[in-house]
Amino acid sequence: MAEIKTVGVVGAGQMGNGIAHVCALAGYDVVLNDISQDALDAGVTTIEKNLGRQLSRELISMDEMKAAQARIKTHTDVKSLAEVDLAIEAATENREVKEKIFATLCTVVPDHAYLATNTSSISVTRLASTTDRPEKFIGLHFMNPVPLMNLMEIIRGLATDQETYDMAMGFAGRLGKTTTNAEDYPAFIVNRILVPMINEAVYALYEGVGTVESIDTAMRLGANHPMGPLTLADFIGLDTCLSIMQVLHDGLADTKYRPCPLLVKYVEAGWVGRKVGRGFYDYSGDAPVPTR
Ligand code: NAD
Repeated sequence: MAEIKTVGVVGAGQMGNGIAHVCALAGYDVVLNDISQDALDAGVTTIEKNLGRQLSRELISMDEMKAAQARIKTHTDVKSLAEVDLAIEAATENREVKEKIFATLCTVVPDHAYLATNTSSISVTRLASTTDRPEKFIGLHFMNPVPLMNLMEIIRGLATDQETYDMAMGFAGRLGKTTTNAEDYPAFIVNRILVPMINEAVYALYEGVGTVESIDTAMRLGANHPMGPLTLADFIGLDTCLSIMQVLHDGLADTKYRPCPLLVKYVEAGWVGRKVGRGFYDYSGDAPVPTR
């Protein structure tokens, strides 16, 4: 099995910068790639802020923080991944975007390199089949925020071989993540259950069953969820939630997965949650204010 020393991360958004953060802290050299220089700059700022928070809570030392920062290189050119042993794709949740990224990666990364996707819902088998190495391809589904959340869902495609699975288990172990295995069906385990619940919360809002605040309060205090479903939707990104519902709807052909029209409308407005400062709440002030 090829030893993993350098990890490439494609996409420096909410998930990509978190993956780069935990990999660097675990001692891997990291190449973080995004088509947008702004996204790379914002990603590095977030990593520095989150490492600083871990330092102030005495979870890491100053030396560990500095070493982690020094291990991360950023590039807008995907050719910068020419020497990685594992490339993790964490770009926008869109199959065409991901397939194009993997097509390019296959021409760039070394022959021994493993390929992984952090997709929330798209078929790992299908993405793998578009590459030149489906046996070395696996789903590594990190949770948001990556430095805080312990779980990594591992999804084997139909062609994923045992060596790649063993690599994934070793990699997750070194990051200190607990793994769970999910079969390669739409949205796997976590999002198969979580995102329809969020979609149902949006239906409750759409139908006037409750306001944004009453729905979130109901689920926080009534179901003991740490955050309400609409707050959580803003945190995940409404574009990602919609995309997951579309994958469930298309893949399982059951009307119970139809995306709520209000969720579609928010995405059409570009109000996709915390990452843009506005979703079911407006985050421009000191405290979030409902947008409906
Ligand atoms: P995001 O919108 O914050 O970031 C996506 C990034 O991908 C952007 O910076 C964008 O510039 C970049 N990108 C787009 N096309 C690219 C390309 N061709 N090459 C390089 N970079 C490109 O999204 P996110 O929340 O970080 O989600 C990323 C992936 O992680 C998605 O597949 C999503 O489903 C998955 N995921 C998200 C969450 C979550 O809670 N948000 C949790 C687990 C997994």
